Amino acid sequence: MRRVQLLSLICLSLACGEDSELAFGERARPDHAPVLILAVDGLEWDEALPLLREDELPTLAKLMAAGRFGRLRSMKPTLSPIIWTTVATGKSPPKHGILGFGKTDGPGGPVVSVFNNLDRRTKAFWEILSDRRLRVAVIGWWLTYPADPVNGLMVAQVNTLEQAEAGGTNRIKGGVVAGLSNQVHPPDREPEILSIHDRVSESLSLRLREILGQSTAAESKLERKLWSDSRWAIRADATYLEIARACDPRSFDVVALYLGGTDVVGHRFWRYTHPNAFVDPPDAEAIQSFGDLVPDYYRYVDRELGRLIEAYGEPVTVMVVSDHGMRATNTQLIWDPNGESAPVSGGHVDAPPGLVIVSGPGIRRPQTPVPLEELEASSLPFVGSVADVTPTLLAHLGVPVGRDMEGEVWWSVIERSADEAAVVPTHDDRAWKRNREQRRAEGIIIPAQDGRLEQLRALGYIE
Ligand SMILES: [Zn+2]
Repeated sequence: MRRVQLLSLICLSLACGEDSELAFGERARPDHAPVLILAVDGLEWDEALPLLREDELPTLAKLMAAGRFGRLRSMKPTLSPIIWTTVATGKSPPKHGILGFGKTDGPGGPVVSVFNNLDRRTKAFWEILSDRRLRVAVIGWWLTYPADPVNGLMVAQVNTLEQAEAGGTNRIKGGVVAGLSNQVHPPDREPEILSIHDRVSESLSLRLREILGQSTAAESKLERKLWSDSRWAIRADATYLEIARACDPRSFDVVALYLGGTDVVGHRFWRYTHPNAFVDPPDAEAIQSFGDLVPDYYRYVDRELGRLIEAYGEPVTVMVVSDHGMRATNTQLIWDPNGESAPVSGGHVDAPPGLVIVSGPGIRRPQTPVPLEELEASSLPFVGSVADVTPTLLAHLGVPVGRDMEGEVWWSVIERSADEAAVVPTHDDRAWKRNREQRRAEGIIIPAQDGRLEQLRALGYIE
């Protein structure tokens, strides 16, 4: 009851946001349904299936019933900058150039700076599609700062500490940052984006209650810390979702949206969701407070995806992809509820694979639908690997695949036939490379870089 009231309150308070549609002219393919790529960090079948069986992820269930789904092979190491760049390029790290969080001064040398968008050595799908005059909106994708001059909209994920408001220090993912240029393309749309960010920030407490119900009552120092280490990611997701909802679907051929909260709350609260996996589980009260946080976040993602599809008001081809699953980590640790540190209890080293669901116009319908009760995470078929997403997207849109891409097209998933497949040797033309060189030479400002390097070192992400 309480949750229903809160929900309607939030819908009311956000109604003003629905007016400010981000329009960017007309789609290049008005006869083609827009494609929505929902990139969800750490979303996985072991968590999703029990909820699907209880009808608690109705949007995903509907997409699964009408489309194709399965496991998605990931890669090692499971570091977000690397994997999400592979997803966006169809290429492995040696080809795309993003090798982790931090850049070293020569092989084996010390880390001197963080990787940024300009370190990418090959085109991402948003550039390939822009070249073909398709309209794209890319929101919050990893390593997109400084934003690329796409044909449409790009809102970069800026990885910074935002020192002024850094309540938590375990921040790995980024968000929208007030007062920083080059994070939105075209730059004249930056005020609109920042106003969405401000609106989300102002209503964050209300939103958190909507997403997580009562599971925010932190008692111990440890839980307060875990919670403050998660809040910012939830705010980033809420901002990205709001921006995606404001995108006029008549303006975009492809909308790509990244959400990181599933991974962030998974890292922090796995021990509360899966206490039996730990020699030192939380007490009953703490489990009562936080035990539902991970499933609540899955419900939130599902609900928001449903809202997004509904807001677009027309058939949408949806691709839900994740980079890896999650598992219990630090299971032998004795946790100090009043200690200074708040170690993670969920991780993705040797974790289950990622998840993929593809559904909508242009996607094959299931041959023989299998009831949800009969699905087992460990026996779901592999649809392919993270490197296949971009080639498959291009093929679905009738855009040639680069022969230099390592991923493969899921011909058994898309309706288009392999006979129609068009290829080009590469999409990386000389003009694009020259332009990247030039942008690199101009230099970019990485906000609070020293602090960020220090943080990544403290977390063991770089040496
Ligand atoms: Zn993670």
